[in-house]
Amino acid sequence: MTANDMAAGAILQIDLGAIIDNYRMIQRRTAPSEVAAVVKADAYGCGATEVAAALRDAGCRLFFVAHLSEALRLRQDLGDGIAIGVLNGVQPGAEAACAELGAMPVLNSLDQIDRWAALAQASGTMLACMIQFDTGMSRLGLSPGETQALIDQPERLSGLDIRLLMSHLACADEPEQTFNQHQARTFDAFCAQFPNIPRSLDNSGGALLPRAHHYDVVRAGIALYGGAPQAGPNPMRAVVTLEARIIQLRPVAPGDAVGYGLSYRFDRPARLATLSVGYADGWPRALGNRGAAYVAGHRAPIVGRISMDSLTIDVSGIPGDLLLPGSLVELLGPHQSIDDVARDAGTISYEILTQLGRRYARSYLPFPSLHQQKVSQA
Ligand SMILES: *Cc1c(COP(=O)(O)O)cnc(C)c1O
Repeated sequence: MTANDMAAGAILQIDLGAIIDNYRMIQRRTAPSEVAAVVKADAYGCGATEVAAALRDAGCRLFFVAHLSEALRLRQDLGDGIAIGVLNGVQPGAEAACAELGAMPVLNSLDQIDRWAALAQASGTMLACMIQFDTGMSRLGLSPGETQALIDQPERLSGLDIRLLMSHLACADEPEQTFNQHQARTFDAFCAQFPNIPRSLDNSGGALLPRAHHYDVVRAGIALYGGAPQAGPNPMRAVVTLEARIIQLRPVAPGDAVGYGLSYRFDRPARLATLSVGYADGWPRALGNRGAAYVAGHRAPIVGRISMDSLTIDVSGIPGDLLLPGSLVELLGPHQSIDDVARDAGTISYEILTQLGRRYARSYLPFPSLHQQKVSQA
């Protein structure tokens, strides 16, 4: 345990080897599609610098971020050898910066197409980009009307090197949902008007949908980070573990209450442990009087509201030798997944991951480099 670990209220460990295993699993499921890594929002809270470098070493060459600022950081981290798509597109005034970075905007409207083409024509170069069609989610991408306008006026694309046509599924986490097929058919019809350009429809959930093919590129996010891409058993390997420190232990008597608002009152003698993680660390305040922590595998329910810097668990009945000030208790790990916590908090694993706090002592379990793998296979 390092001095940094000792000083922190909780320890977050990110298993880069599990991320790479998950990446390869998606590759096997969707072959021969290329699997792009979605590393927006600091790689879903797992650390874009470390995660993207590991994925690059594992062979990933196409990354997606949401914002240009994220593309900038990724380029600084990984250099020129990778392709970067910017999902939120290119905003007015940011065109030159995006081009200079060699990032590819996902052009989501005719306005974005026109501005990107204008820059290409003004600079006398071809500019790489991706184009997104809205096939029913009504969030980002060209509407059917805009798509028709583009088909009617192909000159609007002059100067553009279109590397990918894409769309996004609204219900990929629901395998039974017929809207997935509806979106795929709409996507096929749009793409047929722009032949011989690689296509991409699937996110993590889409990658697990039974389907004849997964187009040319799969955009994997949550599955890389161990979240369940669909309802039902989760085939992905867990990536994060979070252990919080016990900072105080106390007995309580019948009639005593705990935490802000005295929202939990005891009708029996009990023993409490206070952990040094709170909502400021991204542990959802919705988990007041809901959910649990695990002490050496024993379930200890959360009692009372979550405070900013601490929370309280009921450890009555857990062997006393497991309960010492300073010892560590599992919040995320073998007994409790990000999906378990999300369910208890009424949210999704994506939100649990992207809110993971900045105060944790972070460490990364490395994944064996290609060189080490060759040695161990020999
Ligand atoms: C975030 C995002 C993804 C990744 O989705 P997951 O469900 O995390 O795999 C893929 N495509 C687009 C357009 C996205 O915004």
